Amino acid sequence: MDTSFAPEDLAFRDEVRAFFAEAYDAELQGRLASKDPKVFKQAVIDWQKRLHEKGWVAPNWPVEYGGTGWDATKQFIFESERAAAGVRDVVPFGLKMVGPVIYHFGNQQQKERFLPAILASDEWWCQGYSEPGSGSDLASLKTKAVRDGDDYVVTGAKIWTTYAQHADWIFCLVRTSSEGKKQEGISFLLIDMKSPGIKVNPIVSIDNHHSLNEVEFNDVRVPVANLIGEQDKGWTYAKALLAHERTTIAGVADSKRHLAMIRDYAASEVNGGKALLADPLFQTRMSDIEIELMALEFTELRVLASVAVGGAPGAESSMLKIKGTEVQQALQALEMEVAAYFQGVLPNELTPEQLGHGFGSKARQSFMYGRAATIYGGSNEVQKNIIAKAVLGL
Ligand SMILES: Cc1cc2nc3c(=O)[nH]c(=O)nc-3n(C[C@H](O)[C@H](O)[C@H](O)COP(=O)(O)OP(=O)(O)OC[C@H]3O[C@@H](n4cnc5c(N)ncnc54)[C@H](O)[C@@H]3O)c2cc1C
Repeated sequence: MDTSFAPEDLAFRDEVRAFFAEAYDAELQGRLASKDPKVFKQAVIDWQKRLHEKGWVAPNWPVEYGGTGWDATKQFIFESERAAAGVRDVVPFGLKMVGPVIYHFGNQQQKERFLPAILASDEWWCQGYSEPGSGSDLASLKTKAVRDGDDYVVTGAKIWTTYAQHADWIFCLVRTSSEGKKQEGISFLLIDMKSPGIKVNPIVSIDNHHSLNEVEFNDVRVPVANLIGEQDKGWTYAKALLAHERTTIAGVADSKRHLAMIRDYAASEVNGGKALLADPLFQTRMSDIEIELMALEFTELRVLASVAVGGAPGAESSMLKIKGTEVQQALQALEMEVAAYFQGVLPNELTPEQLGHGFGSKARQSFMYGRAATIYGGSNEVQKNIIAKAVLGL
C-alpha cells in the first residue's frame, strides 16, 4: 500500500493543523476541562459549532447532507491531526451514529427535521440500546412500544446510557412485536427526552465520574412520525450503526498521541539522571505496543479505503474494535507504570513538576474508565463470536 501523501494532501494537512492550533484555544480547553457539567456541556457544543462553521463537523457524511466529501486520505489526515493536537473528538451519538441512520433509512421529513440540528450541535443525542437484562444479547430487549392512534406508548428501561443527562433526544431500540424471531420485532424510534414519563437516573462509574445513566420510560407517548424506516425492521438499521460505532472505537490516532506522550514522560530525567525510557524492559514493552499499533493503523487504513469506495465495514470493524481497545488498555497500564515511577520512586528528590507531571491522577482515571473499552460497543468476547461467524463461517 502506498502511504505517501500527494502535495495537495500535504497542503490540506497544514490547513487542518493551522485550524486546530487557532480554533482549539486555551480558553475553550479550560472550559472543556471543567468539572461543572453545564460548563463542560456548553464547551463541547461551542467546539462542535466551530467545526460546523468551518464545514468540518461531519467528515463521514455525504456532501448532500452537509458532509465534507473528503476521500479516505483526507479523512485519515484530519483524524490524525485532530488526535496529534490533543483535540477532543465530537460526541458520537448524533454525528457518527444516528445521523447516518437518518440519512440512510429515514424519510425526507425526518432528514429535514433532524440532520441540520445534529450538524449544528443544537440537539444533543444519546443511544438507548442496552437494557438491564439485554446487553450482549441485545435482540432480547424488552422495552415495549405499543401503537395507540398516531403514537407509540413506550414502557421499559435502558441502561449505561452515556450522557443521557445532557441529551435532548434519544434513539431507541424498542420491541413492537413478540412474534417470530426476536430480531424481527424490533423498531428504531427517535424519542424527545422532554417527553412526560422519562426519568434519568445517574450511575457513577469506577473512575468516580458521572457519564452513565439508567433511563426509565413510563408510558411515554412517541409520535409514529418518529419511527425510522419500517416497523419491526429496526434490527437492520441498528446493526449498520454498530459496525460504524466499532470502527470509531478503535481510536488509533488517539492511541498514537497517547504513546508519544508516554514516551515523552518516560524520557524525563529523574532519579540521578536516569530516565525510565532507558530501562530495557520498559523499552521492550513500549515497542511491543507500538508494533501492535502500527499494524492496527494499516488495518484501519484498509477499512477506510474500502468504505471510501462504497464498501461497508463488516467483521473488520469487530477486529478493529478488539485490537484497538486492547492497545488502549495496554497504553493505560504503561502510563500507570510511568506515573508510579514519578510518584512512587524517591518522591523527596522530585520537583513538583516531575512529581505528578500533571498526569498522575489523569492516568488513574483513564486506567479505571478504560476497563469499559473492552465492554462498550459490544464486548470483545462477542466481537470474537461475530468474526468467527462472518469470517470462518462457524
Ligand atoms: C462505559 C460504558 C458506556 C456505555 N454506553 C452505552 C450507551 O451509551 N448506550 C447503550 O445502549 N449501551 C451502552 N453501554 C452498554 C454496552 O454496550 C454493554 O455493556 C455491552 O454490550 C455488554 O452488555 P452487558 O453489560 O449487558 O454485559 P453481558 O451481556 O451481561 O456480558 C457479561 C459478560 O459475558 C460475556 N458474554 C456475554 N455473552 C457472551 C457470548 N455469547 N460469548 C462469549 N462471552 C459472552 C461478555 O463478554 C461479558 O464479559 C455502555 C457500557 C459501558 C461499560
